[in-house]
Formats: sequence, structure tokens, C-alpha cells
Amino acid sequence: MHPSGYNERMSDGLKTAETSESIEAPRPSNFIRDIIIQDNQTGKFGGKVHTRFPPEPNGYLHIGHAKSICLNFGLARDFNGKCNLRFDDTNPCKEEQEYVDSIMEDVRWLGFDWEDRLFFASDYFDQLYEWAIQLIKAGKAYVCDLTAEEVRATRGTLTEPGKESPYRNRSIEENLELFERMRKGEFPDGSRTLRTKIDMASPNFNMRDPVMYRILHAEHHRTGDKWCIYPMYDYTHGESDSIEGITHSICTLEFEDHRPLYDWYVENLGIHHPQQIEFDRLNLTNTVLSKRKLLKLVTGGFVSGWDDPRMPTLCGFRRRGYTPEAIRNFCAGIGVSKTNGIIEFALLEHHLREDLNKHALRVMAVLDPVKVIIDNYPDGQVEEMEAINNPEDASAGTRKVPFSKVLYIERDDFREDPPKQYYRLSPGKEVRLRYAYFITCTGVVKDESGEVTEIHCTYDPATHGGNTPDGRKVKSTIHWVSAAHALDAEVRLYDTLFLPEDQRPDEDADSDLTSGLNPNSLVRKTARVEPSVLGAAPLTKYQFERVGYFCADKDSTPEKMVFNRTVPLRDTWAKIEKKAEKKSK
Ligand code: ATP
Ligand code: MG
Repeated sequence: MHPSGYNERMSDGLKTAETSESIEAPRPSNFIRDIIIQDNQTGKFGGKVHTRFPPEPNGYLHIGHAKSICLNFGLARDFNGKCNLRFDDTNPCKEEQEYVDSIMEDVRWLGFDWEDRLFFASDYFDQLYEWAIQLIKAGKAYVCDLTAEEVRATRGTLTEPGKESPYRNRSIEENLELFERMRKGEFPDGSRTLRTKIDMASPNFNMRDPVMYRILHAEHHRTGDKWCIYPMYDYTHGESDSIEGITHSICTLEFEDHRPLYDWYVENLGIHHPQQIEFDRLNLTNTVLSKRKLLKLVTGGFVSGWDDPRMPTLCGFRRRGYTPEAIRNFCAGIGVSKTNGIIEFALLEHHLREDLNKHALRVMAVLDPVKVIIDNYPDGQVEEMEAINNPEDASAGTRKVPFSKVLYIERDDFREDPPKQYYRLSPGKEVRLRYAYFITCTGVVKDESGEVTEIHCTYDPATHGGNTPDGRKVKSTIHWVSAAHALDAEVRLYDTLFLPEDQRPDEDADSDLTSGLNPNSLVRKTARVEPSVLGAAPLTKYQFERVGYFCADKDSTPEKMVFNRTVPLRDTWAKIEKKAEKKSK
């Protein structure tokens, strides 16, 4: 908090022009755009740009996916191309319709539209099966009877080539027959696979006779029990891109080593060859971005669900009060590169504040209340003070806030023994109550433990609305609510889900995710809030003046209001206090 009491963001309306571009604003170039520009010049794809966002429906989307979504849909938009939404649903055991639905909702929420181009890799199962037969007939695929473990054991090492499978040289006829029987369900799970015949001595593991099909007697969320053999992701992904006429297949860096295999399949099948381009995965401080780990948090009950406001999922961010604009601007801001790094969570919050500052409605709420009694204010009188809804947006208008003799202010806005630079309320000091009056503290009442229970003040009627006729200055403006009119609301204050790396008891968050969890990531409080918020629709965004940005929870009702703290305002006061502390040492 600013020492004057008012956060400076409030008063000077921070300049936001550089970072708050609209979705249509031109983007700086990056290496992927450069490749596309070059392809367009050479006519590689006839000037066409067709991208896709290809999630596996095995969890909810997180902020890392947002980077990929903004990139793929953004490139299509900027180059007058198209972007598909395709579910890479090759694993029947981990995929569910619930995930499909949530992913579509999240992509739309982010502001992107796949129009009529919604696809599923499972729609290509027949085609993939035909192509598998084509490869068998060409002597480029074979049925292998090794178990998964044996396949792994014969893969070789970085320095040693793998061992060829004893089934590698089966006749084409035998392979065709066995593959057909695999499809018909004659063999148990895991007993056989169809493998690509490439090169067991390749320096690239992905090329050492990778598995194309596995036997899995499992229901698929879309194809039901039609199949009991399923194509591997690596066999499916490149061909799916090819079928859809994808020109630039943009994916994260870990797929770089898979590119030769994807190229091998499309070349050996003689089908359209998309250009794969890899970029860096997004990593953020103090959180994890992996569906597998996020699922653990959900199933382990460490969070309330995929949309727990502490989760880095898009639905979690939405519930917390993040805006799609803020996330898009963040994604545009971080750009893409060829090396993985880690981005400060604070940068995401920076973009969030920029956006909320422009749009959030201002209201007054007191999170840690202490009573103020204005002794010279008439008993029983109530005045309606006019308050500005958003100083950044005149069209948001004004509202009336009731004022009376007994108020609440933040306990932290009063000090009986103020330090030197403390300008807020203290005995003998005059401050402005936002939109109301100047008040001067005349004394306090304490309980037996010495805690202040009442702050007594006088007000100056000539300062109505917070203005003085004589131009008298006060150094601080503080917020308040009228005790008789304020509403109780639950506020949920969030901190990072994970402790910073250097505070985690266990270095390896993968082996034990929970040891890195921040025990204080959620604190619940009862706040006193001005009555205008009554009945706020779920997801309505507010700035609780001087306190932070808040958002009505999805489950908030007029009877039981709940607000999630989206992000605090910048805490400049803490910085100054720290500096002062240092000086005094
Ligand atoms: P996770 O490890 O979270 O399961 P994934 O890569 O397996 O992620 P997919 O559903 O396969 O998840 O991802 C869909 C697309 O999103 C892929 O193109 C993938 O490269 C991209 N993506 C996933 N995570 C990130 C991330 N952290 N940063 C950027 N892009 C990502
Ligand atoms: Mg995956």
C-alpha cells in the first residue's frame, strides 16, 4: 500500500498503452513467423497457412496450453489462414468427454474460434488402419510378439544400437494375417504390437522400430468398442496433420526428436507433408504445468477441483477472476523461443493488473475491520455519498454509498504509535475518508488485552464529498464502510499453490508433489463490503479499493457472497517499510 494510503495506481491511472493491445494489434515477429513469411515467399504451401491446436483430452487446459492456442490461432489470424481444433484422442484409458467439453469451453473463452473445423484423431482410425496395412504390404511394418518390457529391453542405449526383434522378418502374408487377427480381438492386451520397420541402430530412439499399434480391449469415449487395437500417438499425430492439410505443425520442443518419425510416416505413405516447427514450453514459477501432476492435485484432494482458483488451469484462472485479454497479452508478451526457460508468475499478474485496472468496478470493502465512531456526527443520520465506479472509464458512472456515524476501516490503517512515514490515521491526525469527509482521531478504546476496539474521531462537515473549501491538505485517503449498512462476505485470499523452489522440503516435486505445496495458499476471511455488491453475478470483477482485485465466485449467492482475490494491488508500502527497516539497522 502507498504510504499516503491510496494506491498510486488508483489516482494516476497507470499508462497501459504499450501492453494492453487488443487482439487485433500487430505482433512483433518471431522465428515461427519468419519461417511462415519465407514459406509464403517461396510458395512452399501455395501461400496457405493452416495450423491446429491438438490437445489430448486427458485433463483440463492450463496456461501452457494458452500459449499454444494463442500461437496457433494467432498465426492463422495474422496470415489469413485457418486453425483447427483437433483432439488427439488415441488413448482410450485416460480420455473422457468431460475433458473434451471443458477444452472447447476454454478455447472459446480465450477468444478463439475453430468455426466448423472441429476434428478428432479417432475419426481417422479407419484411415490409419488402411495405412498400416499399406506399410505392412510395403514391408515397412511387422507384427511383433515381444512384450512391452521386452521391446524396452531391446531398444539399446545412447551408445549401443538396439536388438532387432526375432519377429522382424515375418512374411508380409503372416503380418497381414496377424494384424487382422489383432483387430478382430483374438489376442489379449499387450501380447502383440505392430511395429514400424525402420532402423534399430538409429541414433534417434524414436526411429528404432517404434510401435504403431497396441492391443487394448478398452472402450473409447467416441468409437466405443469398435476397436481393440489403438494407434500410438506418434503414428497418429503426423498423419492427422497431413489429413487436415496442416501447413505448419507447431508443437513444443520435446517433439523435436519425433519429427524424423513423423516425416518418415508421411513420406513413406506418400501423403501431404506438413512442416513441423518446435517452440519452448511455458513454465511458470511456483506452479506446475502438467496435466498429470494437476490431476494428482485434484484426485488427491489438495485442491477443490480442476477449477480451484489456485490451479494454473484456464478454468481455475477464470474462476479466480483472470480475463482472457490478460492471458492473451501475457502470451503475446512472452513470445516464443528455441530454449525452455521459466517465466515469473509476477509477469502474468502484471498483465492481469493492466487489464483489470481498466475494467474492474471499484468498491469499498474492509477485510480486517476496526470500528470508527464519529462523535460529532448526528446519531441515526445516513448520507448517500457519490462514488466513482471506475476512474479509468467514465462510462462506468457513479453510485451511492451510505455513510453514517459508525464505520469500519482497516485495522492496518490506524496506528496508535505511528512510525515516521506513516500518514494514515493516528491520534491527532486528520485523514480523508474516500468520497466522504475529513476526520481527525481524538482517542481510542481498548480491550483488556490492549487491542484497539474503537477509534473515536470528529469530522469536518465542510469537507463533504472529501473536498475542502479551504484547500486544506491531508496526506492520506482511506476506505471505509458504514457498519450498519455493510454486508458480510467471505473473501478467499490466495497465495501461490507451491512454495518457491528454495523453500520446498523436497527438491524433486515429481516424486512427491505435496511436499512443495504452500500450506497458506488459501486463507478465508469475513469482510465487510459496501452494499452495492449485493447480488453481484458470479465472475463480476471488482477492485476493492486499496486492497486488491476480487471476483465474485461462481458459487456466490446474495445470501452467501463469496469473493476470490484475483490479485493484490502492488504493495509499495511494504517496500518502503523494508527500506526503512534496512536503514535503521
Ligand atoms: P501436459 O504435459 O500438460 O499433459 P501435453 O503436451 O501432453 O501437456 P497436450 O494436450 O498434448 O498436452 O497439448 C496440446 C498442445 O499444447 C500441444 O501442442 C502441446 O505442445 C501444447 N502445450 C502443452 N503444454 C504446453 C506448455 N507448457 N507450453 C506451451 N505449449 C504447451
Ligand atoms: Mg500429452
